[in-house]
Amino acid sequence: MNSGIQTLPKEVVNLIAAGEVIDSLAAVVRELVENSLDAGATRIVVSVWSEQWQVRVADNGTGMNLTDLQKAAYPHSTSKINLIDDLYKITSLGFRGEALHSMATVAELEILSRLAGTVEGWRVEYNSQGKPTHIEAAAMAIGTVVTVSNLFGAWPVRRQGLPSPAKQLRAVQSTIQQITLCHPHITWQVQQNGRLWFAISPGATAQQIIPQIIRQVRHTDLQQLTLEVPTPEQGEQGNSSTARSKIQLVLGLPDRCYRRRADWVRVAMNGRLVRAPELEHTMIEAMAKTLPRDRYPICFLHLQICPSQINWNRHPTKAEVYLHSLSYWQEQVKSAIEQILRLNPDNLPEAVHSQRIEKLLKVSETKGGYNLSRSIQSTASADENVNQTSEPGLIELRAIAQVHNMYILAEHPKGMWLIEQHIAHERVLYEQLCDHWQLVPLEVPVILNHLRVAQLEQMQRLGLDVEPFGEQMWALRNAPALLASRDDCKEALLELSLGGDLQTAQVATACRSAIRNGTPLSLPEMQTLLDQWQVTRNPRTCPHGRPIYLSLEESALARFFRRHWVIGKSHGI
Ligand code: ADP
Ligand code: MG
Repeated sequence: MNSGIQTLPKEVVNLIAAGEVIDSLAAVVRELVENSLDAGATRIVVSVWSEQWQVRVADNGTGMNLTDLQKAAYPHSTSKINLIDDLYKITSLGFRGEALHSMATVAELEILSRLAGTVEGWRVEYNSQGKPTHIEAAAMAIGTVVTVSNLFGAWPVRRQGLPSPAKQLRAVQSTIQQITLCHPHITWQVQQNGRLWFAISPGATAQQIIPQIIRQVRHTDLQQLTLEVPTPEQGEQGNSSTARSKIQLVLGLPDRCYRRRADWVRVAMNGRLVRAPELEHTMIEAMAKTLPRDRYPICFLHLQICPSQINWNRHPTKAEVYLHSLSYWQEQVKSAIEQILRLNPDNLPEAVHSQRIEKLLKVSETKGGYNLSRSIQSTASADENVNQTSEPGLIELRAIAQVHNMYILAEHPKGMWLIEQHIAHERVLYEQLCDHWQLVPLEVPVILNHLRVAQLEQMQRLGLDVEPFGEQMWALRNAPALLASRDDCKEALLELSLGGDLQTAQVATACRSAIRNGTPLSLPEMQTLLDQWQVTRNPRTCPHGRPIYLSLEESALARFFRRHWVIGKSHGI
């Protein structure tokens, strides 16, 4: 930010997307809050009186001196940019110098402000041209309090054209929530008619904010990843490739949470939520086949990138932007999501002592009840397993027992898991099929009869070699590799003929080929399945979106067994 507020030169004004900035109570809130953020505030109090059409935003930012206060509501007056060149390196949320002026035009505007390092503040009232009409000294803390009252009081038609006060309040709430996601370190207090309406506590990232906004979601249902990536080279700006950009992603784990609508697939760029349909699509795609049908992920992406990559002047409210090198960013986002979805020892909660889990299992072993098949495992294969799982990036997941011929009980240094064998295997096979969909010739053709035209077409689409074999009979000469040698090959092929795309066929094939629940497994078999499963791209859910494993982390177990209790005390001694 350069020194003091100045009026922008005409040639800069002409380059800025013009438009009505203030069109609702929510817009007033957005503009005032963004000014507070630009002023470096860490605490923001928003008060709304919707019936009075009044908004007040108080912050503990840097404040303004009297000279700046007097100029603040002039048209195109800003302290944030000055020259045309500045437009390509915008780092502040505001830059047009229009908001306060517009507010003075359509409402009554009053600002109190005290600049950091000075002893007193000032209160200034403005007329509809943005000129100060009343100035007086004010005792106040460092920061700024802006009050906008009687919005559109002189414009009854515009008021009538606006949604009901209830709807406007909802818009105010969602405006604030959107901003909190991008600025998680701020303490927020929001009041309605002088009473506390809601508050948001600060956090390190949006991972701490989202659970305060979506009540059903807990902090542990989400995972966050911050990546630094190079900024792609860009024609005219030249040397930008050395600059680093930051990708911050908060993802709802698909086995923990999802939404009925794509309302939480959101993108922010440099501190502001934007519509970025292409990136939103990338996020939904990257989560495909990890969620139940017609369900959408919780996914919040914040790109902090060199300002020259973004052109904000697509829309007056800055809600839509042009992003340079779009496909590069799409690739980065895709790989960030893949990284979060993989199982990774670093993602698991703190370890305490794996010996405790050992002990716990010993207890359950002697008590019986579980189908423990430890005796089957030879020492040799146990050693092998240790070698296999000590690869970096893998969790040391050790198969210990099979429960009800359905779940694999596995131990790792930070806890234990129950893995459902059928869907874990289904996930493994599905990804193998996606990577390598292979049709093999059948030794004996499968004969199908009474096929409908749609079924025949579907088989041809999937690359199946089907030809007439007589009256209402067809011969199928090839099949997906996994199905070819199965006894139920014919049923499987019929299932595939019933519709869906290749992906659907792959899901169906994986599901049919995966080991059934109820099948006894040896320890080495279980271990092989665990090893294969934990390196899949989406180990958390099966392709239909069902969760694959239940984790019992040591920290949760310690809490459950009240291991922190001081024995003497809890016995009332
Ligand atoms: P812009 O934000 O585009 O610069 P505004 O009309 O919103 O334009 O604000 C004009 C100027 O007033 C800002 O550039 C800034 O210098 C000053 N200002 C506005 N609000 C605050 C605030 N809360 N704290 C400190 N300065 C502020
Ligand atoms: Mg502004």
